[in-house]
Amino acid sequence: MKLKAINGFKDILPDQVLRWQQVEQTARDIFERFGMREIRMPILEKTELFFRSIGEATDIVEKEMYSFPDKGITMRPEATASLLRAFIEHGLHVQQPVQRLYTIGPMFRHERPQKGRLRQFHQMDVEVIGATEPQVDAELMAMGQMLLNALGLKVSLEINSLGCPDCRPAFRTRLIEYLKERKDDLCEDCRRRLSVNPLRTLDCKSRGCRALVQEAPSILDSLCSECNEHFAGVEHTLELLGVTYTKNRFMVRGLDYYTRTTFEFITGDLGAQAAVGAGGRYDGLIEQLGGPKLPGIGFAMGMERIVLLMEQQAESSIIKPAADIFVAALGDKAAEYGCVLVQNLRALQLKAAMDYSGRSLKAQMKQAGRINSRFTLIVGDNELTEGKAVLRNMQTQEQETFALDGTINEQAGRLFSTIIPTSIEVDGIKMK
Ligand code: ATP
Ligand code: MG
Repeated sequence: MKLKAINGFKDILPDQVLRWQQVEQTARDIFERFGMREIRMPILEKTELFFRSIGEATDIVEKEMYSFPDKGITMRPEATASLLRAFIEHGLHVQQPVQRLYTIGPMFRHERPQKGRLRQFHQMDVEVIGATEPQVDAELMAMGQMLLNALGLKVSLEINSLGCPDCRPAFRTRLIEYLKERKDDLCEDCRRRLSVNPLRTLDCKSRGCRALVQEAPSILDSLCSECNEHFAGVEHTLELLGVTYTKNRFMVRGLDYYTRTTFEFITGDLGAQAAVGAGGRYDGLIEQLGGPKLPGIGFAMGMERIVLLMEQQAESSIIKPAADIFVAALGDKAAEYGCVLVQNLRALQLKAAMDYSGRSLKAQMKQAGRINSRFTLIVGDNELTEGKAVLRNMQTQEQETFALDGTINEQAGRLFSTIIPTSIEVDGIKMK
């Protein structure tokens, strides 16, 4: 039996990794422009953390978590809960009243694998803790938009407000009343969740529920005056910043902790996997997790979906980074010399390669071409005794004699200045 990766778990192969690096580097660059600092948390957390944050009546907690029940631990299905746990545990708010943090890494959910939906997937997650101002909400959306644009993607932004503990209960009651009267038309899941989590029906994918909620009361009509003002502030700032958006009163998000602003970056190009990124405000969550009474807002982008979209939408293609120099050695003495020379070249930060198999010159030149080497240094036992080698520019095919004077280290230094490496730019990002 052939060993294969688990269903829903994917290898990211070297050619694809170039894309991933580009996404990650662009994200880090943009996040840091907005004052975000990186934080890294463990993948395993106590299961209770997700019960208390994401909510027990959500899809994620009800059926998607990878848990080890005997140990009471779970592989994180998202980053916000872990990040806040770390924030609280280390008292980060004492250092700085407003913390802007980001993290990049794998998340785990037991879902049905499809294009753009995996069981191990990767998120870039950002959180701003300690600020309530609507400008912060808008700034985060603008940052997400800037990142997607920098990657050449066209994605639309949808926003909504879920109100707060003051105004949501009244809406919830109105919604339950409305849904109860039409209970027979609800899908099985929504009927079951009717009294526990009625808001979920608003973004239920089943046809019956979708038709039904079109006429349902709108949460935006039920907001208290503070929530209304906050939402107006978000809209106003988005307009100031020139960020285009649409309001979507059906967007409720799959996690219980959201308050006020929620938003999603949506694409029509990935079938049912429409959300490229999503997030919102969670003003009560930190306290609920045993931390200080601080507001927060954040979002997560799905890296698999971004990479897929780039393959589909973006015009730019990845340029394969080249090696700087390949040493083709012929004969035992030359091979020994080459082995030391490449090490010296690498210490000088050059990308140097060599083939130790002792193959023919033709085979080695082919290998130099395969790794896209800019130069090849050809050296045989005889040349070594005569103190010279041949340096070939692989782009122009020009050859020159390279004198093997001085120590190997000095020779490496002279080679370095002859072929000074050029860094490669991919969509304006330097990839050395
Ligand atoms: P969806 O509605 O597609 O299930 P979600 O609302 O569950 O998404 P979030 O929990 O908000 O997603 O996660 C933020 C982002 O992470 C999503 O917008 C998406 O890009 C990505 N994401 C979520 N689940 C997966 C998955 N199983 N595979 C790949 N990417 C995912
Ligand atoms: Mg989901």
